[in-house]
Amino acid sequence: MRNSCRLQAGLERLAMNPISSLFNWPVLKQIGKSDLHALGDTAASDRTRNLNSRLKGADKVVSSICPYCAVGCGQKIYVKDEKIIDIEGDPESPISEGCLCPKGSATFQLVTSQHREQKVLYRRPYGTEWEPISLAQASEMVAQRIKKARDEHWETTNGQGDLVNRTLSIAHLGGATLDNEENYLLKKLYSSLGIIQVENQARI
Ligand code: SF4
Repeated sequence: MRNSCRLQAGLERLAMNPISSLFNWPVLKQIGKSDLHALGDTAASDRTRNLNSRLKGADKVVSSICPYCAVGCGQKIYVKDEKIIDIEGDPESPISEGCLCPKGSATFQLVTSQHREQKVLYRRPYGTEWEPISLAQASEMVAQRIKKARDEHWETTNGQGDLVNRTLSIAHLGGATLDNEENYLLKKLYSSLGIIQVENQARI
């Protein structure tokens, strides 16, 4: 099937441009270059010759950590014109020494996938549809809910009269896509709010 498609494409090219197609015919190239076994340059196509490293043209390399799991493998992020063009394992990482598992190797897709959600989505109580809202509106809604829950369930002392200054009405469960810096800031924020139920699967 594949060969018949190729043959069809070759015949179409020949019909459109007979002279140049003829000179590109591998047999003629092999004869012309005395490469009858096609083990030399004639074995390469223009496509092969024009292939380049994925990293070609990168103007910046940024060290990072794989966002997926608590192993924390090192990554090198290659950037061109302020856009990520590739993500590879970092050979200088003492944890992973340049290796990434299949999931970590696909981190580039996490950043660039067309399926990546770019907007904040909100589903109202009893709603059946997600609706896009602005980041500012979402942040305001989160802040209002935190304040309300904290105000309504603040504990200054526990049952034994000990000073605790906490709220048990809010808990945090973090995921592995949070990096070290985000986890640090989250823990700091929660501690300042008196939130003590903080858990995270990721590296801290
Ligand atoms: S590369 Fe794989 S093992 Fe390493 S942190 Fe990422 S997901 Fe975990």
